[in-house]
Amino acid sequence: MNIGTLLIHNAGTTDAATGALSTPVFQATTFDQSVSFREDGAKVEREFDYARSGNPTRKALEQTIAALEGGANGYAFSSGIAAVSSVLGIFAAGDHIVAAEDIYGGSYRIINTFFKRWGLESTAVDASNFDEIKKAIKPNTKALFLETPSNPLLKITDLNAAFALAREAGLVSIVDNTFMTPYLQRPIENGADIVIHSATKFLGGHSDVLAGLAVVRDEALGKEVYRVQNGFGAVLAPWDSWLTLRGIKTLRARLAIQQQTALAVAKWLQEHRHVQSVYYPGLEGHPGKKTHDAQAFGAGAILSFKTKTTEQALRFLGKARLAAAAVSLGGVETIASYPVRMSHASMPKQERERLGITDTLIRISAGLEDAEDLIADFEAALA
Ligand SMILES: *Cc1c(COP(=O)(O)O)cnc(C)c1O
Repeated sequence: MNIGTLLIHNAGTTDAATGALSTPVFQATTFDQSVSFREDGAKVEREFDYARSGNPTRKALEQTIAALEGGANGYAFSSGIAAVSSVLGIFAAGDHIVAAEDIYGGSYRIINTFFKRWGLESTAVDASNFDEIKKAIKPNTKALFLETPSNPLLKITDLNAAFALAREAGLVSIVDNTFMTPYLQRPIENGADIVIHSATKFLGGHSDVLAGLAVVRDEALGKEVYRVQNGFGAVLAPWDSWLTLRGIKTLRARLAIQQQTALAVAKWLQEHRHVQSVYYPGLEGHPGKKTHDAQAFGAGAILSFKTKTTEQALRFLGKARLAAAAVSLGGVETIASYPVRMSHASMPKQERERLGITDTLIRISAGLEDAEDLIADFEAALA
């Protein structure tokens, strides 16, 4: 089936028991086990016993995301960062990972604080530069952690090439696919071993549910991730699993419009007198466009731009009426984020500046408003 159909017809769409066109919310933590205490001694095991280990609504979501990403199994967590942390939890003290330097700020923070404290070493690299990746690999390196397009400057990594390099070195390839979603990019097809999502963003799609997902290429990795999911316990609640399943059904319709709007806004910004530069892989001048087009089915709905002065950026954030000045992305409402004070506030200033995350940088998540209205509003805010 094509992805558009798979988004609608999957494990999360129909309830086998009643025919309901929606998975029930099994708001239950424990499941009766009496069938496994039969007098004849025959062993009957119920699939579910306790909700941290498994819940039918969560399972429907986990099977859905696994099917969409083309992986063996899926796992749902209480947030995107819980998914990142639980995946990194499969490694041990003394292991080393190579991570792209411009991953999500929260991922950067957890790798460089919490996991560092527990003995997981890491090296940050410019993942668009293969020599840097190669040089960073050490005898104890166990994983390569990528995000493409990157956050917040939309830099592109060639997934086929990066994962080939990782495979050669025996590393687990991990990619955060939040910006693209499986509708636009399916990294397992390019050789990824684990795909992570903050489902809080496009998959949920309505700025009303915090959720994280991970999909593994094969069962063996699945066992390791499951051990952390069940043992560490940062699982997604049944109701939030249901909200995420509902969001996924409209992903294609939302994202198709949102990325058209993103392109229109990016093109308009490019011509604006107060704009220094625009970062969007859908623009002809984007340095990673060719690579991105070869591995993704669209440029997505996230773009960034730099104004010429800090004052212009701050004025835009305060004055834009159709874009909330807020963290997060991927919802039906347009959001303008200010990375230096929001997603990347925890990154040391010197490191931020080196990466080009300046006081003039604004990241836009295009929503479902009319593009013309957004542009008129942005014009007024930038004037
Ligand atoms: C938001 C985000 C995360 C973290 O997800 P939460 O749901 O906020 O915990 C991770 N990666 C990317 C790319 C994100 O945008």
